[in-house]
Formats: sequence, structure tokens, C-alpha cells
Amino acid sequence: MAIGTALGEAAIGIVRMSGSDAVAVADHLFLDKNGVPGSLAGARGYRLHYGKVVDPTTGRVVDEVLVGVMRKPYTYTREDVVEFNCHGGIVAVREVFRLCLASGKVRTALPGEFTKRAFLNGRLDLAQAEAVIDVITSQTGASLRSAVNQLEGKVSQKVEGLRRELLGVLAGIEASLDFPEDVDPPDRAEMAKALMAARDSSLRLAEGASAGRVYREGVTTAIVGKPNVGKSSLLNQLLEEERAIVTDIPGTTRDIIEETVSVRGVPLRLLDTAGIRPAKDPVEQKGVERARAAAQRADLLIVVLDGSEELTEEDRDVLALAAGRPTVVAVNKSDRGRRLTREDLRMRVRSGNDGEGAGYFEHAISVSALTGDGIDELRDAIAEVVFRGRVPVQDELLIGSERHQAALRTAGEALNDAVLALSRGMADDLVAVDIQEAVEQLGFITGESADAEVVDEIFRRFCIGK
Ligand code: GDP
Repeated sequence: MAIGTALGEAAIGIVRMSGSDAVAVADHLFLDKNGVPGSLAGARGYRLHYGKVVDPTTGRVVDEVLVGVMRKPYTYTREDVVEFNCHGGIVAVREVFRLCLASGKVRTALPGEFTKRAFLNGRLDLAQAEAVIDVITSQTGASLRSAVNQLEGKVSQKVEGLRRELLGVLAGIEASLDFPEDVDPPDRAEMAKALMAARDSSLRLAEGASAGRVYREGVTTAIVGKPNVGKSSLLNQLLEEERAIVTDIPGTTRDIIEETVSVRGVPLRLLDTAGIRPAKDPVEQKGVERARAAAQRADLLIVVLDGSEELTEEDRDVLALAAGRPTVVAVNKSDRGRRLTREDLRMRVRSGNDGEGAGYFEHAISVSALTGDGIDELRDAIAEVVFRGRVPVQDELLIGSERHQAALRTAGEALNDAVLALSRGMADDLVAVDIQEAVEQLGFITGESADAEVVDEIFRRFCIGK
């Protein structure tokens, strides 16, 4: 059992139990609307039953509740599930939780245990179970869509389809080896075609994993530039709202302040936004210092320049640090006219990095953080840099997990070995070894061949109550 909602002031809080004793434990505490105990055992499933939770030792009413009874096997865990919908807030929920626990028939769930049971009882495969945590932690619409696709089993279907195809090829080889008199060996040209197609599918799915990870984990991003160029105004534009500035609480590290903005569905995790804001300490104002630190830590740099003025030494230093890193340059204050042209910028940057050829900023966008002009183009440029020019289409199947990517890649390589073995005229049973390896790797994704340790590790990432 577990408390399934965040503890805090809220309209409702949920205590949920799963297992064969769940209904009995709930009945022990529950009086229905007529004050009758023991009504849940015979109550209809998929209804909410109104009543009270009463402490059985004192007879004291703890809370008014709605209780949901869901009977196996049509539940999340495929076991009996009971959910108390209590009043939100800490006390009522904790009290109901404590009383259930006091029955001695239930215990506190481990992180992800409900979902793990759903997996072990065959309700979800491993890839789907992993998607549950991604749905919970999604920060943008796009990462949610990708996680929901995986939860719906689209990844599993694709991988399982590949795996079955390969099992078919293996079966053909094995039959001809076991019964050489009755079964002809498989046609080698056809087998090569099937294996190549499976190899390409595996590798293509693995490739999509990088984009999937970007959606899931976000891109660490730093907005850098000298003071007063408009970094904080630009941040507000990207946030699409004037946000209250995070107040500095004395004693807290500025480094831990992190905001996330969604750009074309990609969560940008902004590093050190506190440093963007006007600082009293002149050292902190130094754009170059921040750029130097950020260039080491960020996946993406947004360099802000004041386009209405000439480029200064400090601007050049910031640009030099960004050169060669994934960067978008925002040439700000376009509403004030332009002293600094895009060409001018390219030239200067290029000449500043002579010999390396790395100083060419492909993405320099003219914007006004005041009027919002050019912000859309800036968003496009950011998405392009993040995906290195290859912006994934909306419905592409994106693999989010590193574990899946590794398995797909290894499967693809094993299939490549199988194709090579075939072309070198090696015996079928040797080809079969490589195909078996690929089958096993694909099985890691759906859980067919994942061992207990991997499974435990995956569920450890979950929160308690899911
Ligand atoms: P930061 O120090 O880089 O964070 O810069 P701020 O965002 O605090 O902006 C510095 C000043 O420039 C403020 O007075 C802003 O209102 C102004 N500013 C920022 N962006 C623009 C812009 O696009 N056009 C104009 N005219 N002023 C801007």
C-alpha cells in the first residue's frame, strides 16, 4: 500500500492498496453511508462508495471518504485494488494510511511496486512500464506524447514484431538442421534480405533514441552575454509570460535555481538563471565568466548581443567561448535599429577564430525581446541546433531510453554480423548464433530476456505509490 498523491494541501489525497487482503483491510475501517461495516466485500467494482473511515480501536471517525474497489484481474496490478479518496492535506491521508498499516495485513509499497506487479502479472511489458515513469516526469507536450506512445505499446509492438520475424528465420534454420532429410535449408538470398531489413530497422530505431532522449531529459542551456544586452528580457519572452523573478533566499546556492522552458516541445533546462538577473555584485555581472562556466556545462548556448550597438571586447570574448559549441546568437534590440549587422557579426567571429574555421555562427537571429519580434525564428533556430538540422517529425517513434538504444544498437550489429557471415558462405548454424544474439537483445527491451537485476533497477527509479 502507499499514499498515491503528493502530500500537501489539496482537494483529495489517495491511499491505495493492492493484493488479496486489500478489500478485507479496507472493510475493517470503513462504515458505509448507513453506518454499516463490512459492506465493501460485496460491493460492486468500479463504483465509488461513500462512507467514513473509523479507527477500529477507538471508534473515532477519521475522515469522510469515497472508496473505489477494483477487482482482479481488471486492475492496474491485476490484483484487487482499493483506493481511499480522502480529503487532501496531510493529516487525514496519513491517518487512513496508518490505520490500514495497523491491520498488519499490508505493508508499505516499494518505489514503483504497483507498476512492477503490473509487469510481473503480465499487464504491461517492460518498455511500457518504463514509460509510466516518463509520463509522470514529462515536462513538455512532446515528451509526454513520446512517453504515451511507448506506454500504449508502440515501441513494444515494433520491437516485438522484429523479434518474431527473427525467431521465424531461426526456426527455419533449426528445422533444416534438425531434420535435414525432410526440411530444405532456408533460401540464403531471402534470409539475407530479411536480416538486412531487420538490421536497418533496429539501427533506425536506435538512431531515433537521441531525439527521444532530448525530449525526455531536456537540453541544458545557458543564456550568456554581457550585462544589459537583454538576457533576462529574452528569457521572459521564451517563458511567454512575465514570471516573478525567483527571489534569492540568503544562504541558498544560486546554482540550484533552474527553470525549464519549452521550445518547440523540447524542454530547455536553463542553467543558472539567477546569474542572468541584474546582480549587485559586479563580479557576477561579468558575462565572460558566466559564459566560460556555461560553455563547459551546457549542451546549448544562447548568446545575446545588443544589436543596436557596436560589438565590444566583452561581446567578442563571449562569442569566442561559444565558437565551436552548439550555439544560437540572439542579436537583440532590433527595435532600436541596427548598428551590428548579421554579416558584420559573422565576419568578426570568423576572423576572431582564424585558422580553426569554427567561428562561423550559422544561427544568428535578429530579435527584439521588447516587442517579441523574431522570437519565433529564434525558437526554430534553437530546435534546429538541438537536433543538428534534423528536426524529428511529430509522430516518429522516439525511443527515450538509453537502455533501449543500447539493445537496439547491439541487435543491429549482431544482425550485420549475420549478414556478413551469410555473404561469406558460412554455415547456417553460425549465422544462427548472431541471430540469436539479436533476438536476445530485442527481448531485453520488452522484458522477455531481461534478468531480475535489470528489472529491479528500473523500478527503483519510480516514486512510491506508482
Ligand atoms: P540583462 O542584464 O542582459 O539580463 O538585460 P535585461 O533583460 O535586464 O535588459 C536590460 C535593459 O534593456 C532593460 O532596460 C530592458 O528593458 C532593455 N531591453 C531588453 N531587450 C530589449 C529590446 O529588445 N529592445 C529594447 N529597446 N530594449 C530592450
